[in-house]
Amino acid sequence: MSVSMLLRLAWRQSLIRLLLYYAVALGIGLLVGEPWWALGLATAALAARAYWRLYRVLRFLDWRKQLRTVDGQGLWAALETLIHRRQTENRTRSRRLVRLLRAYRQAATAMPDGALVIHRRDGRLVWFNKTARHLVGLRYPQSLGEPLVDFFAGNPRVREWLAAAQTDEPLTDVASPTDPMVRLSLRLIPYSATQWMLVVRDVTKLMRLEQVRRDFVANVSHELRTPLTVVHGYLDMIEPEEHPDLAVMVEEMRRQSQRMTQLVEDLLTLSRLEAQEHLPEEPMAMAPMLVTLRREAEALSQGRHQVSVEDRAGCDLTGSTKELHSAFSNLVSNAVRYTPTGGRIAVRFERTADGGARLAVQDSGYGIPEQHLPRITERFYRVSTSRSRESGGTGLGLSIVKHVLSLHQARLEVESEVGRGSTFACVFGPARVRMRQAPGEA
Ligand code: ADP
Repeated sequence: MSVSMLLRLAWRQSLIRLLLYYAVALGIGLLVGEPWWALGLATAALAARAYWRLYRVLRFLDWRKQLRTVDGQGLWAALETLIHRRQTENRTRSRRLVRLLRAYRQAATAMPDGALVIHRRDGRLVWFNKTARHLVGLRYPQSLGEPLVDFFAGNPRVREWLAAAQTDEPLTDVASPTDPMVRLSLRLIPYSATQWMLVVRDVTKLMRLEQVRRDFVANVSHELRTPLTVVHGYLDMIEPEEHPDLAVMVEEMRRQSQRMTQLVEDLLTLSRLEAQEHLPEEPMAMAPMLVTLRREAEALSQGRHQVSVEDRAGCDLTGSTKELHSAFSNLVSNAVRYTPTGGRIAVRFERTADGGARLAVQDSGYGIPEQHLPRITERFYRVSTSRSRESGGTGLGLSIVKHVLSLHQARLEVESEVGRGSTFACVFGPARVRMRQAPGEA
């Protein structure tokens, strides 16, 4: 029965019963000749019954009391029925929630990855699963309430990463506090307004494989260097004038061996960058750097492009001059190589709104279709293989740029439109900016 029907029926019934009750009381009162007394007694009995029903309802509202079915009719019975229904619904709902919660807990406990819940404010542990115990060296329940960083003592990377609340970038290759040979990857997930979920994964095998791959590439590149130098040397000794029939072939062989040498050099540069965690932090003067970039652009362009260099920032950077120079000149070289004759190339060094700085290399060249943009920094990824080869590209330039920038906590921003040109910008944070010293200042 619906609630409104139940209530309507109850109202009607109790009104009729009340009238009947008083009619009978009045009847008896008239019979015995004391109508007022009879009515008074009837009212007192009614009040007593109402108190008794109220007492029952109050007991009913007590959760610990056993639920029982309601009998009788009228308003009190309707009230009890409604409470009874609400209680039953609530119990069913909370049982379902408890079951669901238990299932989630079980799933989280059985997860092969470590899962921890920590307070956002102070990084204290709220909950962790079994895998987290082994990987991070936690003990239940003693570790609850302890700050997580304490377990990674001696690892400033974890402290900094947690303080920066890096939810989009996982922290990889962290030594496990229980065994430094075990390498971990940490990922922060916003869990609630006050808590983080930290997922800890054992990536030891992955790291080992990555190391094997790196070593392999570095070794092969290194081994190729000597034979290539020999081939190159012999090719240089052949004078095309002395062997006119071989001239075309020798020229092509020289070009190909140069390409291979460049490829090997780029692979070695990448391996070297990958093996490094930090680069030298030295002051890097931007004015001479911009002059060098202009000279390089003009040399590569050989007058085919209009080159402009602007220094709007008036500051310097901190970092590895050698590596940053290699990154910037890769961008300049790409701009020249992927811009047809008559195009414009503009190098601009400027400040960013957050107090950082950016070096932007803009060209009016071929541009890059949007679908290729997310992948162009991958090794050997080329938008047009033939155009890259023709222009002497190895397909590794932008990977090198990306690596160098990430070692400087900087990022590469690319904007491009097919047929209109591209802008590649290296964006540095405020921590990398150095104000220029006036001449004569120590
Ligand atoms: P490559 O040696 O082939 O130039 P890079 O890693 O430097 O390799 O660049 C990857 C690809 O990105 C290039 O093959 C090219 O297709 C594209 N690219 C890079 N810079 C530019 C640019 N300034 N304009 C148009 N395309 C570019």
